[in-house]
Amino acid sequence: MNARIHSWETMGSVDGPGMRYVLFFQGCNMKCQYCHNRDTWSPSGGRIVDLDTITGDIESLSGFYKHEDGGVTASGGEPLLQSEFISNLFDSVHNMGLTTAVDTSGHVQLNDMVKSVLGKTDYLLLDIKSFNEEVHRKLTGVDQKLVFEFIDYLKQIKINIWLRYVFIPGYTDSNDDCRNLIEFINLNKNIKRVDILPYHHFGREKWLKMGYKYPFENQRLPQHDEIEFFKSRLKESTGVIVK
Ligand code: SF4
Repeated sequence: MNARIHSWETMGSVDGPGMRYVLFFQGCNMKCQYCHNRDTWSPSGGRIVDLDTITGDIESLSGFYKHEDGGVTASGGEPLLQSEFISNLFDSVHNMGLTTAVDTSGHVQLNDMVKSVLGKTDYLLLDIKSFNEEVHRKLTGVDQKLVFEFIDYLKQIKINIWLRYVFIPGYTDSNDDCRNLIEFINLNKNIKRVDILPYHHFGREKWLKMGYKYPFENQRLPQHDEIEFFKSRLKESTGVIVK
């Protein structure tokens, strides 16, 4: 079985617990204006790799991942667009005694194969773009319907969630945004941790290199104080770890 992969990293330390083998799947169905992996969007880009090659590679390095809940993370692009591959991969990863994680936007159809992957996922890293419909559409080019259906399903199966939230001045940093995020965390008891990711423009060069105009050319970067204030409100009002 094959997958289309953008790239992989053998010593990932931010995409789930412990040390991780991180696979960046090619293809995405959102169009985030600030995407720092613009080259993962096309479903026909990247390279084709087979399951045995990837599994063999992970196995040869598995000793590095066996501490502190380390393992394998499927990221992207949108990894759940290639769920059949991930479902098979995660069986092998569990057989090696490692943990599995998926980093997703949640903007996917909840078909049987996606549910199969979620049933084998130890940590779900969920990238929430915005709780405001209009802002969500502006930032990503899509509405929130699939994301909220996905979240409802996560509640049913009680999967551990690490929430990821990109803090963008003028888009996701308002008082209302903070209140909505707090309410969402407190309603979803399976959220264990929240990562507030300050917007940065490191992805700009990729857009330009590919011949595209960078949509966030004039977007200002968040200040340290405003990020810390936002985080402190989350810490005060929720029981989850805030990073
Ligand atoms: S979901 Fe992720 S990979 Fe896809 S466009 Fe948005 S930031 Fe980029």
